[in-house]
Amino acid sequence: MTNRRTFLKLGALSSGALIANNAFSHISSSPKKVTIQSNKPIVLSTWNFGLKANEAAWEVLSKNGRALDAVETGVMVPEGDPTERSVGYGGRPDRDGRVTLDACIMDEQANIGSVACLEHIKHPISVARAVMEKTPHVMLVGDGALQFALSQGFKKENLLVEESEKEWKEWLKNSNYKPIVNIENHDTIGMIALDANGNLSGACTTSGMAYKMHGRLGDSPIIGAGLYVDNEIGAATATGHGEEVIRIAGCHLVVELMRQGKTPEQACKETVARVVKLTANRKKNLKDIQVGFIALNKQGEYGAYCVQGGFNYAVHDSTGNKLINSEYHLHE
Ligand code: ASP
Repeated sequence: MTNRRTFLKLGALSSGALIANNAFSHISSSPKKVTIQSNKPIVLSTWNFGLKANEAAWEVLSKNGRALDAVETGVMVPEGDPTERSVGYGGRPDRDGRVTLDACIMDEQANIGSVACLEHIKHPISVARAVMEKTPHVMLVGDGALQFALSQGFKKENLLVEESEKEWKEWLKNSNYKPIVNIENHDTIGMIALDANGNLSGACTTSGMAYKMHGRLGDSPIIGAGLYVDNEIGAATATGHGEEVIRIAGCHLVVELMRQGKTPEQACKETVARVVKLTANRKKNLKDIQVGFIALNKQGEYGAYCVQGGFNYAVHDSTGNKLINSEYHLHE
């Protein structure tokens, strides 16, 4: 308890945005109540498309809206953008030319919903939310997810845009599956938010690794891997090579490390260290791997860490919306 209190106090002192009311008031005979205010609302999301997504989320948060609504609204921006090649409509297909989408969502009460390998639906995040709110299950995949989406009134659409189809046909000539770090053959939007009422939620959505095997799932639709929220502690989301994030149950680990008193950046850093260690143990080349985590705690402090340089994330709070380069492990 003492450690946790010390941590909260240090956190408040180390961040200009956090105020410890009465903490230093004149000593009086009756003990003063110490109230630590959070930096809220706040939203953060992965990569530079996070900037636009944050704007949409902020519309909700700044009007006292729920973090859950904010993260859904936010990630729908890149999902609906046909020029984004790694999320939703316009996403790159699998090796069979099929656009298969993965998404999950988690709220402050640990309600969860997820869809994986979903085709023809532009906004998989909203289908994930419907799984959460309208079914007794937490995850639907493939045809079952599509059937459910259609039953809920979602429209069936062709998500493979001309440009992506052309690139895929080009790729077919060699059919060499080799994800390259930090180029747009993968990239997920993960978004986590703390609302004005102090509640946390998160959403994560992607078309996954381009030219993956049909049926391949990454971390993004898996609660605990690509996303995790614990309303008492904080939230985390991930991007990069999903296989590596799943291997360490990445986002759950980040949140557990925050529970132990780590700052969001320390928690992300230690989680990346786990990826680094397992990669070495498995005698794989770390240079071929990119994994990035972003995290937010209950006080509105945030941070990120990734394997190698090039990963950035967007943060929107009352001071504005900005893009931040993540700290990283692999310095040549
Ligand atoms: N994590 C995603 C996946 O493995 C891809 C990415 O974020 O780049 O499907």
